[in-house]
Amino acid sequence: MLVGMETTPSRDVGGVVVVIGAGPAGMMAAEVMATAGVSVTLVDGMRAPGRKFLLAGRGGLNLTHSEPVDAMLTRYGSASAQLASAITGFGPTELRAWSEGLGQPTFVGSSGRVFPQSMRATPLLRAWLHRLDDLGIQRITGARFHGWSSAGVPQFDDITVGHRPVLLALGGASWPGTGSEGGWVDSVRALGIRVNPLRAANSGFEVEWSPVMAQRFAGEPVKNVALTFAEHSVRGELMISARGIEGGAVYALSSALWAAIDEQGPVQVLVDLRPDVSVEWLADRLVHSRHGQTQSNSLRKAAGVSPVGVALMREAHRQLPTDAHTLAALVKAVPVMLTAVMPIARAISTAGGIALNEIDDTWMLRKLPGTFVAGEMLDWDAPTGGYLLQATFATAVAAAQGMLRWLDAHQPERH
Ligand SMILES: Cc1cc2nc3c(=O)[nH]c(=O)nc-3n(C[C@H](O)[C@H](O)[C@H](O)COP(=O)(O)OP(=O)(O)OC[C@H]3O[C@@H](n4cnc5c(N)ncnc54)[C@H](O)[C@@H]3O)c2cc1C
Repeated sequence: MLVGMETTPSRDVGGVVVVIGAGPAGMMAAEVMATAGVSVTLVDGMRAPGRKFLLAGRGGLNLTHSEPVDAMLTRYGSASAQLASAITGFGPTELRAWSEGLGQPTFVGSSGRVFPQSMRATPLLRAWLHRLDDLGIQRITGARFHGWSSAGVPQFDDITVGHRPVLLALGGASWPGTGSEGGWVDSVRALGIRVNPLRAANSGFEVEWSPVMAQRFAGEPVKNVALTFAEHSVRGELMISARGIEGGAVYALSSALWAAIDEQGPVQVLVDLRPDVSVEWLADRLVHSRHGQTQSNSLRKAAGVSPVGVALMREAHRQLPTDAHTLAALVKAVPVMLTAVMPIARAISTAGGIALNEIDDTWMLRKLPGTFVAGEMLDWDAPTGGYLLQATFATAVAAAQGMLRWLDAHQPERH
């Protein structure tokens, strides 16, 4: 069923171009093309646009990062060369100005991350949808894309789009309840286009916690830790969940951890609960605090370990070491065994997707001329920190500009 417009079954949508997927990528691409005077129809399978964008705003909408573009590009690993022109064209400065233009000025947090002042996505999305409406973009919701007919025409349940140029912005496969369920993969592959397997990125990992840990400490953050795996070490926060660990520090190591688990099975990470002090300092504090105190109390009061930190230590050693030096060493390196990657449905982002060599430098599919791609459905990935939305927006602007050039060359009379 279509929502937000009157329609009859298989009604032709009209408009010069069709954008499929009304997440941040699709909405930005639609805005750029409509601003250039092209009539755009924006279609989404959900009843409301931008569901994952709203979800992203729940914990503080991290729009981009304030670091220089050169440094930012390194965050995209092997995709950085291909993303360079898009992010240079629409980088943090342009993104912040765009947000401000929608009445949502931004600020730089202590970690260099950029947020709208409201921290939330809701006011930004509301203002944005008004702008899209003012630009005359036709929005169709509740219409799911099912792939292409044998004649190469995109197929939906209730609408027909004919042979119009299309911009695909269907997202990844995490949090499928937001509409991004990766159902497009098989139909894209059926065209002979390479889609690298979708997998969880910036994801948590499963841990076989004791019932006490899973029940009492699920949802508790373990703040200001250093997390080490092999030669990788990051500072940040862990979040205990009933099934394992999540949080910024875990996400930052998730690619390396994912690769190791895929190759060898469960892996061990080390959590330093007091990364700013030495073992000797901790041992000295513990020796002088012990009299009459329980171990848990002296760990908390003398060594500054939080209750959830103590619980983490007890998961590793049900009987904590009595020797102060050994106990201090454990505070600095609590082993945690990660058994598996959390399901993709719980990940912040999706790695894999349409291989970047399947698109040309205008973001058009080489094997499907007139069809452009943007956002998370392409095979790039980055850590959290605003890099995901930054590349989502930048590829959308670049793909929309590619589509505009294509229209100039192929349909100059139509806009
Ligand atoms: C919990 C969480 C927090 C996050 N926080 C941040 C953050 O703070 N900063 C950051 O940079 N990134 C964050 N992200 C990541 C960010 O939200 C995504 O990278 C971004 O939404 C990708 O945008 P997109 O438009 O490519 O895809 P999506 O936002 O996934 O949008 C895709 C759209 O396509 C539609 N669609 C899919 N399939 C079909 C179909 N077959 N037919 C019709 N429509 C379809 C969907 O309904 C959806 O509306 C977060 C993600 C999560 C899950």
